[in-house]
Amino acid sequence: MTAYNDVSLMIDGTWTKGSKGRTIPVVNPATEEVIGHVAHAETADLDRALAAADKGFKIWKKVSAFERYKIMRKAAELMRQRVDEIATIMTQEQGKPLFEAKAETALAADIIDWMAEEGRRTYGRIVPARAENVYQLVTKEPIGPVAAFTPWNFPINQVVRKASAALATGCSIIIKGPEDTPASCAQLIKAFVDAGVPAGVIQLVYGVPSEISEYLIPHPIIKKVTFTGSTPVGKQLAALAGAHMKRVTMELGGHAPAIVFEDADLEQAVSILGANKFRNAGQVCVAPTRFLVHEKVYPEFVERFTAYAKNVKVGNGLDADTKMGPLVAERRLHAMDTFMNDAISKGAKVQTGGKRLGNKGYFYEPTVLTNVSPDSKIMNEEPFGPLAPITPFKDFDGVMKEANRLAWGLAAYAYTKNTKTAAAVGAAFESGMVSINHHGLGLPEVPFGGMKDSGYGSEGGVEALEAYLNTKFVSQLGM
Ligand code: NAD
Repeated sequence: MTAYNDVSLMIDGTWTKGSKGRTIPVVNPATEEVIGHVAHAETADLDRALAAADKGFKIWKKVSAFERYKIMRKAAELMRQRVDEIATIMTQEQGKPLFEAKAETALAADIIDWMAEEGRRTYGRIVPARAENVYQLVTKEPIGPVAAFTPWNFPINQVVRKASAALATGCSIIIKGPEDTPASCAQLIKAFVDAGVPAGVIQLVYGVPSEISEYLIPHPIIKKVTFTGSTPVGKQLAALAGAHMKRVTMELGGHAPAIVFEDADLEQAVSILGANKFRNAGQVCVAPTRFLVHEKVYPEFVERFTAYAKNVKVGNGLDADTKMGPLVAERRLHAMDTFMNDAISKGAKVQTGGKRLGNKGYFYEPTVLTNVSPDSKIMNEEPFGPLAPITPFKDFDGVMKEANRLAWGLAAYAYTKNTKTAAAVGAAFESGMVSINHHGLGLPEVPFGGMKDSGYGSEGGVEALEAYLNTKFVSQLGM
């Protein structure tokens, strides 16, 4: 098995320890063993990272998009060659099953490829002038050094979207990676460095998240902030960025409604929603969360979905037959218990699951709840775990009111065989991403982002690159 090594910071092209030598332990959530340590950045290290990013930006913005593309494609190839090694590292620190870790690593390669390709098509335009001999040019320029903050649920995917959009457009970047899962993120950065990205273009730091964000965001070298994580933290960071007039992309939480209409193919709905509910132990911002099922098919859906949940094989992600691994950390077990105690105290019925599994490793049972009170915590806060509350509905207007009730608007799902219902529900969801009759989110070429409290900006499609570009208008007389 691939050994798990200690993780260093990447500053100015060199893997380095923090200047005071402090480290943070990394725990395997399946065994609770400390498997390694990650270097802890001090303010002096952040200063070096900032100076490097400033220098890196001045170098990288002058490298043509064609050259940047070649280097990035090489990084993508390295990720493909290293899939098995990187996935094993990811599973050890994050817990997800190996097949999910492999898919995440392979998708990262596709994201790098796509962003690199698209970077070559960063076109401006010429606007016809009103006066003779006047030329009006609209050009796109890289925004500058970026500060990126990424979480532990997809240790590579959350980073690669930011890093490859930044690099494709000619920006440099400082990434504050996830302390719970630092090594797989570092493997991605290693692929970029090994592929020949010049020193200073890409930095990776770890430490105390709030201290690092409070230092980097206001810093004059940083021109853009991008964050993936919870809505409360996102609001704090957006406010700080606003106070310093920094461009912002916020990919925050969600509470995705999943509507199953009476004419839905129930077998299809259960298998796709089940797979996506329990994927990554439910620690997914676009996971289906509020299951809203037409009353006519509600009993059958509950029965089928409960059977699906009971059948999910929970275990160490390194075991070949594991379908769901542990939660990332002990604090998430407590979070699940809080949701469950609250729901049960308000009358919820536990169809299956509802508690920790075993007493070693942070395993939690795939859980299905019915009779859930609308004012219970799970119907109002992001569970970020393997809990599925199922509620019946009567009519379209009622279910759309419930679907759009919360402040979030990231992902939304619906199952129906009726094309009119599909069109109506697609239009009515207040959500940045909608997927009907399948789970079609997250490809590099399509937008990825939310509305309302789920944030703003996109981390996929052409919009992802636009977020790293300034628009400049030049009007010139006599050419
Ligand atoms: P948390 O809020 O402490 O941390 C979430 C992420 O934000 C972590 O990566 C953390 O390092 C980072 N973070 C926290 N405070 C920060 C700050 N001041 N500056 C910069 N980064 C900061 O919670 P947690 O226990 O790690 O996760 C719980 C919740 O976070 C979940 O319930 C979920 O709502 C949210 N979350 C969302 C995503 C997502 O993909 N949108 C990913 C991970 C966690």
